[in-house]
Amino acid sequence: MARLDTIKIGISSCLLGQLVRFDGGHRYDHYINEELRGRFEFVAYCPEVAIGLGVPRDPIQLVSTDGGIRVLGVHDPNLDVTKPLQQYGQQVATQLDSLSGYIFKARSPSCGIGSVKLHAPSGALLNQLGVGAYSDEIMKAHPQLPVIDEGMLADPAARDEFLARVTAYHQHLMFVP
Ligand code: SF4
Repeated sequence: MARLDTIKIGISSCLLGQLVRFDGGHRYDHYINEELRGRFEFVAYCPEVAIGLGVPRDPIQLVSTDGGIRVLGVHDPNLDVTKPLQQYGQQVATQLDSLSGYIFKARSPSCGIGSVKLHAPSGALLNQLGVGAYSDEIMKAHPQLPVIDEGMLADPAARDEFLARVTAYHQHLMFVP
């Protein structure tokens, strides 16, 4: 049973200021770190580091291929990390029973939840958006888990709705034996 006093939220590591991005940088988010950090316990995940891509690393992107949507290297299309990202997502999904929400990094081919640029095999940008390979597995395994990205968190209405859903989800968890 979940503890009454701690609401845990999963989060993309780079949003906390961790230096895990492909270019060795981060995506520190002021609202998350200065407003939410005192109210929640964050559990950070960086799937690209977790599957061994290292920092810095070659950038990757979502590509629509004849074999479906793949996560391929921007400079080296032979680098295909779709399966490792999916497998890591499936593995993490089995460990999320104590989380009441998840804040993902927007537009990431691994962590994005619907705002990820989709490319043709030629590299050309398509007029479509996709979902990250890791986040997709988390959301498929936990369809009721409240999720948002830092871009949506900037919208007060979306933010309030997410936080209300997190609170309700946490209360539900407390009554699950
Ligand atoms: S978006 Fe996800 S994979 Fe990319 S650096 Fe952040 S946590 Fe890592």
